[in-house]
Amino acid sequence: MEVYLDNAATTKPCAEAVEAAVAAMTENYGNPSSLHRAGLNAQLVIDGARKDIADSIGADRECIFFTSGATESNNLALRGASAAYGRKNRKIVISAVEHASVEETAADLEKKGFEVVRVSPREDGRYYAADFVNACDENTCLISMMYVNNETGYILPVKETFSAVKRRYPHIITHTDCVQAYMKLPVKANALNADLISLSGHKIHGGKGVGALYIKKGVRVLPVITGGKQEKGIRSGTESVPMIAAFGAAVKKLVLTITERYDRVSELKKYLVGRLDGEESVKVNSPEDGSPYVVNISAVGKRSEIMLHFLESREIYVSSGSACSKGQQSGVLGQFGIRDKRADSALRISMTAGTTEAELDVFCEALREGIEKVRG
Ligand code: PMP
Repeated sequence: MEVYLDNAATTKPCAEAVEAAVAAMTENYGNPSSLHRAGLNAQLVIDGARKDIADSIGADRECIFFTSGATESNNLALRGASAAYGRKNRKIVISAVEHASVEETAADLEKKGFEVVRVSPREDGRYYAADFVNACDENTCLISMMYVNNETGYILPVKETFSAVKRRYPHIITHTDCVQAYMKLPVKANALNADLISLSGHKIHGGKGVGALYIKKGVRVLPVITGGKQEKGIRSGTESVPMIAAFGAAVKKLVLTITERYDRVSELKKYLVGRLDGEESVKVNSPEDGSPYVVNISAVGKRSEIMLHFLESREIYVSSGSACSKGQQSGVLGQFGIRDKRADSALRISMTAGTTEAELDVFCEALREGIEKVRG
């Protein structure tokens, strides 16, 4: 039995997404920019998906801009907003636990003359809104802070932070990477006080190579990719109609069950943590009040990659820390106080509502076997 527990890396597209993509490829294959009927039909497919995604975050559809994925959305948010607002205000504030697509982009802007302040969690491994507010000042143009951390499931206080930042510094643009929160926790643009929100299709059963950036009305973002002026000039390039259709179809389906799925996955996390409780060398690195979709653990003394491949030999797929870092430690666990041997042995188990207790049993048995057999 194959057990896929790497859903924070990517998810299996749902049947609705596949069907929508196939329909777009076989029936609505026109170029949405073309002025004839075939083009219009493709444009209608995009408009439908744009509306479903906009509705899901309580936004107008004019505020949704399609991209090739959240990496591009994060690039567009940071580069585009800093280009629009950072001429005089040269400071950018981010959390120290961002995904590489924010961290590396901020590092690049730093090389280009911006000052980047990275806010770390406190000693207790938790974030406080006040620390972000204190890092901001009159010269700050942008704050970027993810909602759910992809390695641990930790939920950052985005709403409290953005509200406090906006109260004190109304000119600062607020961006949140909601990739691991979207369709799992409620993500509402206004409630979060977010000017910019990054979303990804393949983390929500929608398919790879598509994402979106929400841009609040009135907020300026300069394009990173220029050309034929698609997406109102914010993101040129012929739209990937099939993947956009798939993304929209997945959202339309999942938006109805956010709470039920959250409750179900919370049960699964409880079950998993309960089963691991008896394993002396196993430590849970994720906070109890984190997103239940991500459970980071350490079989202390057994290096992540070795254990990962042992599990793989049993057809069980998990990730070491963060899949995006291709085995390289990102330093994010250290920020949360998980260091040395414990960090070296970290494994990320990430679930969906379709994960079963039986699959978690198979994982726990194999982990136990691995702890006995694997050298370290
Ligand atoms: N942000 C976070 C928090 C992520 O987990 C990921 C995917 N690993 C990304 C951004 C990048 O998303 P994409 O794969 O759509 O480029």
